[in-house]
Amino acid sequence: MKINLLQHPLATQLLTLLRDKESSPQIFRDAVKRLSVWLAIEATRDLKLKTSKISTPVSEWEGGVIGESLALIPILRAGLGMSDAIIDWLPFAQINHLGFYRDEKTLQPVPYYEKLNASPPQNCLVLDPMLATGGTAVAAVHAMKKWGVGNICFIGLLGAPEGAENLLKAHPDVTIFLADLDEQLNNKGYIVPGLGDAGDRQYNTF
Ligand code: URA
Repeated sequence: MKINLLQHPLATQLLTLLRDKESSPQIFRDAVKRLSVWLAIEATRDLKLKTSKISTPVSEWEGGVIGESLALIPILRAGLGMSDAIIDWLPFAQINHLGFYRDEKTLQPVPYYEKLNASPPQNCLVLDPMLATGGTAVAAVHAMKKWGVGNICFIGLLGAPEGAENLLKAHPDVTIFLADLDEQLNNKGYIVPGLGDAGDRQYNTF
């Protein structure tokens, strides 16, 4: 399976802050930002460079700048905390927002907001902190393919095995980057042990 996890003591420490129900929204948002930037750096490792000739104060130097287009795709609303942090590190990126609500009858995600400009980027990072059932992620990736994006990565903070499996079954060409993969979903669709509602915890809307 194409799932990359941050297996690192510093990631575990940040995840402990995220999972702890005593962490304030500010601490929670801060941990979301740090982990999101780290995951985005991992997910952009293979971006191609184009040559950039510059002069240092001492000599000429042939360096490189990112030579491919990239979009951040935050899923409203919990993905916003991720894109806000990542854009500082990938300032050349564009941000295209997607919103979904859940149809109460079919339980399927229904798009209610889509801000996609005319020409698709070569690469995109779909951003949603929680890969739970995978329904929204599958729909978001589908929207990216319809738009014409070539290379699609999904970035989440926590995933459930069901969600990762559903996403890869529907879209085997997508690479998943998560801080951690948890044990399961409960009967309300929450990731266990998880961190609760990622939107409410960022925006203090309990
Ligand atoms: N969305 C959340 O915010 N938390 C979960 O555990 C699952 C989906």
